[in-house]
Amino acid sequence: MSADLQFTVEPTTQPASDDQRAAILANPGFGQHFSDHMAIATWTKENGWHDARITAFGPLELSPATAVFHYAQTIFEGMKAYRHPDDSIHTFRPEANAARFARSARRLALPELPEDAFLDSLRRLIEIDRAWVPSGGETSLYLRPFMFGSDPFLGVRPSAQVTYCVIASPAGSYFAKGVKPVRIWLSEEYTRAAPGGTGAAKTGGNYAASLLAQAEAAEQGCDQVAFLDAIERKWIEELGGMNLYFVFDDNSVVTPELSGTILEGVTRDSILKLVTDLGYHVTERRISIDEWRDGAASGRIREVFACGTAAVITPVASLKWHDGEVQVADGEAGQITSAVRSALLDVQYGRAADPHGWMTRI
Ligand code: PMP
Repeated sequence: MSADLQFTVEPTTQPASDDQRAAILANPGFGQHFSDHMAIATWTKENGWHDARITAFGPLELSPATAVFHYAQTIFEGMKAYRHPDDSIHTFRPEANAARFARSARRLALPELPEDAFLDSLRRLIEIDRAWVPSGGETSLYLRPFMFGSDPFLGVRPSAQVTYCVIASPAGSYFAKGVKPVRIWLSEEYTRAAPGGTGAAKTGGNYAASLLAQAEAAEQGCDQVAFLDAIERKWIEELGGMNLYFVFDDNSVVTPELSGTILEGVTRDSILKLVTDLGYHVTERRISIDEWRDGAASGRIREVFACGTAAVITPVASLKWHDGEVQVADGEAGQITSAVRSALLDVQYGRAADPHGWMTRI
């Protein structure tokens, strides 16, 4: 059972036609279309992990009493498969996502899926749906592993039955017209995570809690929301779905340290190494909102960028709050931001060597 959980493959009898798939891949957007298959496995308290399959993508039938609907015992991951110039398909640091998934599981009192089973589910799903990995531009196949309490029981306790699932969604270039710097709204009313809470876990509730602040950002004409720490309301944590980096006028690079309340991004971690490879000095430390505001105003902070799997690296043009706004330099992508972005994409898309061994060939 759990120790050597293997996903058996049951090919769908109703795959999309070549024409249907080609039409989707020509303009995939994000998160709207799904490949022909999904991975699914079940855990029960009595039997551990079992019934692991790659099967036709389709609806799940769940009792209205299913635990996750009521108590949000759920975690997820987000990662991508990339088509290289020679048509081979590769994932980026999938072990890092497996490890984070296991950490999230522990925090949400969900059973851990063995890392080998996590990697096996991805490999087999990508293998069978490899035609769904788009080519050209910054396109990819976005992979969404998730796990939830599937016990049809209303008692508040760790679910005695759990479902693991992976779905795959072709993704177009995040920025159709080139990289677009974003405007950030500072959330002074809402926080995302408190010490001892679930901020470091990739769990649905964190995202539910960020939506109102994100809506406020949109009302203010901003693209993303930045959160501060919940105690002092002073230290920069992260955006709703991305980590942050700051570049100072002496070319030093800073990212907020892992506080236990921010998500440890795989992109954030990779950038720590890439910035060093490029010859710059990078520090993880606390950075206050006043340091951002004053630094951007004085020119001491020359570049700010956000990073995550979906948008890779996104330049930050300005920071807005209730009674002010400060632009970062000229509001365009800075030199180090652009260099790090290219270095990361070149590894992911197989245009450069992979000195850190980050890519896994499917
Ligand atoms: N912070 C949050 C809250 C996120 O949801 C994400 C996206 N997973 C990130 C940061 C960036 O993480 P990663 O680089 O692993 O995508």
